[in-house]
Amino acid sequence: MEFIRANADWFYLIGAVLFILTLRGLSSPKTAITGNRYGMIAMAIAVLSTFFIADHPVVWMIGGAMVLGAVVGIARARTVPMTQMPETVALMHSLVGLSAVLIAVAAILHNNQISALFAQNEAALTAAGVQHAHMSKVHLFELFVGCFVGAITFTASVFAYGKLAAKKWAKTIAGAWVKPVQATLFIAMLVCGFYFFSTGNMPAFWAMTALALAFGWVWIAPVGGGDMPVVVSLLNSFSGWAAAGIGFTLENNMLIVAGSLVGSSGAILSYIMCKAMNRNILNVLFGGAMGGAAVAGAKATGEQAQRNYRSGSADDAGFLMSNADSVVIVPGYGMAQGRAQNAVKELANLLKEEGVKVRFAIHPVAGRMPGHMNVLLAEADVPYEDILEMDEINSDFPATDVVLVIGANDVVNPAAKDDPGSPIYGMPILEAHKARTIMVIKRSMATGYAGLDNDLFYNEKTMMVFGDAKKVVEDMAKAINGTGH
Ligand code: NDP
Repeated sequence: MEFIRANADWFYLIGAVLFILTLRGLSSPKTAITGNRYGMIAMAIAVLSTFFIADHPVVWMIGGAMVLGAVVGIARARTVPMTQMPETVALMHSLVGLSAVLIAVAAILHNNQISALFAQNEAALTAAGVQHAHMSKVHLFELFVGCFVGAITFTASVFAYGKLAAKKWAKTIAGAWVKPVQATLFIAMLVCGFYFFSTGNMPAFWAMTALALAFGWVWIAPVGGGDMPVVVSLLNSFSGWAAAGIGFTLENNMLIVAGSLVGSSGAILSYIMCKAMNRNILNVLFGGAMGGAAVAGAKATGEQAQRNYRSGSADDAGFLMSNADSVVIVPGYGMAQGRAQNAVKELANLLKEEGVKVRFAIHPVAGRMPGHMNVLLAEADVPYEDILEMDEINSDFPATDVVLVIGANDVVNPAAKDDPGSPIYGMPILEAHKARTIMVIKRSMATGYAGLDNDLFYNEKTMMVFGDAKKVVEDMAKAINGTGH
């Protein structure tokens, strides 16, 4: 234990380097598992060194909290279905935010308690040469920033969780009143925060915290549908900055480094996603432009319900694909929802055995979290070289015989390119509509996440194959097997 205490900075340095290697590893599917392992080791080093170097740790309390956290974490990790991963991640961000608030509150109350004790016995303590060091301005600033960033992260993440989990209480808000309310809350929060910072006034601190909690909610609630992935990634970044803020409060270098890594990588991911969706980050956060998507989509569905489309059976589709030269599979949220990834991989293998060139096309926001489709395809052992990103595959669609869209909708919606009035106009899409034949597996003509109707389904080159993704894909595979090729 003494050894760890004496060399804590070295342990932290090793941990920090391992965290950097983790991020590097996670940047490619091939190295992701190694990256994850580095992360686990780094986290173990961080937790254990902190535990051993803490002044008089209340071992039973910390140990109890760690065991409880581990039990809940392991149970959740084992049971959470892949489809509920995004909301689980959002919920976890909320806990980071909440802990930043609680630590700031604890640090301030602790300091106030010491000041009060000192004031009670000032004469005796001063005579004994004991001096009370008041909290420095820098420290107050860290607490002020860490607390309000944490509070905003907390309520915004709880809302993001509710929205992604389709909870009734997570209602998107809209109206002319929203922006003035947001601005008032934000300014009032800053005013209270600066008052606390300059005077140490506690009512101002409580008011700032309450206003930050309210602002987090009102800030995210107008953001609708298609912009949620960016928000989740941004909240990831915020939770990192909040953790870094706690690191300063606790004077813990490891937490400062790890928090900054999460903060900056989350910010970079948000930027990349905004670019992929042709959106401006400020517009996402304050424009509420996509908030109207669901409403617009609902109208569009009503208006276009009578349009004609062509549907076919899994047998027909299987036969057509086995006779094609090239097939591109576009997976979307429906593949995750239907847990069809293994069946899809089997189908791809069968087609390859028939001599068909099969590739997978991945949109950056397909599914419900960044990398959702990559994770599912990796789980099914689809070879990495068969998986292409949007920019790599888009130019190949015109020369593709069959595109098989499995439970994807918004990410192949041509309105994003053709209809300036569409809420998703400008968002890059997988250009499936340019292929020679398009097959779409879904259960009905219902809209996708953004609530918009999709012209692709009514395209004369498109065949809808209705049913649950897994069942339809299995039937297609049976049909190909049954052709006796
Ligand atoms: P969409 O949500 O647009 O569409 C999914 C489609 O899958 C639906 O139209 C649904 O139609 C169908 N479906 C659902 N379950 C099944 C099933 N069991 N079997 C067959 N089909 C099924 O998905 P996309 O992947 O195209 O687009 C993702 C959307 O989610 C984008 O708008 C994106 O912005 C948003 N988003 C993305 C996040 C991310 O980080 N990736 C996070 C949050 C939101 P039907 O009901 O008729 O079957």
